[in-house]
Amino acid sequence: MMNRQQDYEFTPPQWVDEFLQTRPHDQHSESLPAIFATCDRLFHYIQAVFGKGHEIPQIRVRHKNHVQAETAFTVVNITTGLIDLCLNTKFLPLDSERIPFATGTPELNQLGRHIMMSWIVSHEYYHIVRAHDGVQDDFTDVHTRHALERDADLMATAAIYRLLQRDLKGRMPDPVVRQLAFYLIFFSIRHLPGGAEDGTHPEIGVRLFGIATKICHLQEDNSRPAEAGDEHFEAIIHMVIKCELAYQAENPEVQRNSGIFKLLTDSTNKPWLATIDRWENKVKQEVKKLSQTPT
Ligand SMILES: [Zn+2]
Repeated sequence: MMNRQQDYEFTPPQWVDEFLQTRPHDQHSESLPAIFATCDRLFHYIQAVFGKGHEIPQIRVRHKNHVQAETAFTVVNITTGLIDLCLNTKFLPLDSERIPFATGTPELNQLGRHIMMSWIVSHEYYHIVRAHDGVQDDFTDVHTRHALERDADLMATAAIYRLLQRDLKGRMPDPVVRQLAFYLIFFSIRHLPGGAEDGTHPEIGVRLFGIATKICHLQEDNSRPAEAGDEHFEAIIHMVIKCELAYQAENPEVQRNSGIFKLLTDSTNKPWLATIDRWENKVKQEVKKLSQTPT
């Protein structure tokens, strides 16, 4: 993808406002401030619901081609490589009459860029809010690392669903908002480099499967207690299949697929299930205790 030896930071890191002011003018100059404004809205939502007592993190931009996002205390560091990827990600048209919103349009690409950056920085913010560092010290194995990533993935997914729910109120029925949320998050993270080989995150298929499951089970009205239900399962699984097929058709050079089709059909006694069990039974409880935040 790139030559790491050439990835020097010639420009010092900048806070987002400074970055936006000094960035050379181009076709993204108008949309980028709006994308970071959406991130800011989501940060305020997360702080109001989960992050009481925590400062809203500042976003800092590092001038590196490497696609990266990470937390450092109350700062979320992102790279210009990530921003460029976000601006160039395609939210592909899907081949289906069963998807009740237009896909692959310029408007949806624009919304997709907002959701992509917001989901990524929210995932990072949740590492802070959910006190993941504190758990990591006690559980140092790879399963725990994956479980913490899963926790951040699912919290960020829920936050995106709530954002779309508020913004689209009355314009789309709830099941369609869920499908749209999955569609936008799918293409956001399917384009990210990494996966099992980066040593931090679970495989991409496991991440996507978890996100799909989370979107199925979120309460439409989150003031009501959660109850088990899979009424959205069929519609979301349909989206999973259509999104993955569209991604693979557009990226024939991707030799290994995400493995998500196998996960859909093959769901007993697998290592990823053991990871989820551990997260549910142990790590999730520890995180909840440390951070005093509900899931
Ligand atoms: Zn993470």
